[in-house]
Amino acid sequence: MIHDLSKNNSIIGNFIAELRDVTIQKDAMRFRRNLERLAEVIGYEISKTLSYSKKTVETPLGEADVNVLTEQPVLATILRAGLSMHQGLLNYFDGSESAFISAYRKHTSAEEFAIKVEYLASPDITNKTIIISDPMLATGASMVSVYKALLKQGKPSKVYIVAAVASKEAIDHVRQHLPPNTEIWVGAIDRELTAHSYIVPGIGDAGDLAYGVKC
Ligand code: URA
Repeated sequence: MIHDLSKNNSIIGNFIAELRDVTIQKDAMRFRRNLERLAEVIGYEISKTLSYSKKTVETPLGEADVNVLTEQPVLATILRAGLSMHQGLLNYFDGSESAFISAYRKHTSAEEFAIKVEYLASPDITNKTIIISDPMLATGASMVSVYKALLKQGKPSKVYIVAAVASKEAIDHVRQHLPPNTEIWVGAIDRELTAHSYIVPGIGDAGDLAYGVKC
């Protein structure tokens, strides 16, 4: 199931506009905070689809019944670009465990690359709900490699993918390779990819914009 949050007007439009804007992008702190705010709002939307159980809470004046999450999702992210979105999700799912995975493009030519997954630190995810965040779903190859690497830690019962901007190609790739009940939540879907697999109009290099240009 694809949730393209640009289809309905909401404050998410402002976050995406600022993330895309070359002038506002010069403020790396604002860029990181916009990714975090976007993930907070998407986390809130996802929370409406999770399971809840009744809990009785003692207040100073009596008892109140409230519905609370039956189980916190595991939050996984891809180093390094995913860190700000991960923080946004963690702000709301504050009892969640985290999984961190590194993935990078190892180029064999200017336009061809393989995805290298090297670092993985994850709790057991057997039968858990997992939310994997990565700001840019360009080809979908990193997301699929990361999902396959995570399976070493167990098979999740449900997968949510959270991204700021995705290409149509990436959405198709993820749909082909992840389980059918996977949900993809994105701030916007763009049509094109450059020959170097960057999203157009996209945002640019989200990792560099958030954390500095790598050499
Ligand atoms: N990674 C990015 O940061 N941006 C893109 O457009 C594609 C991959």
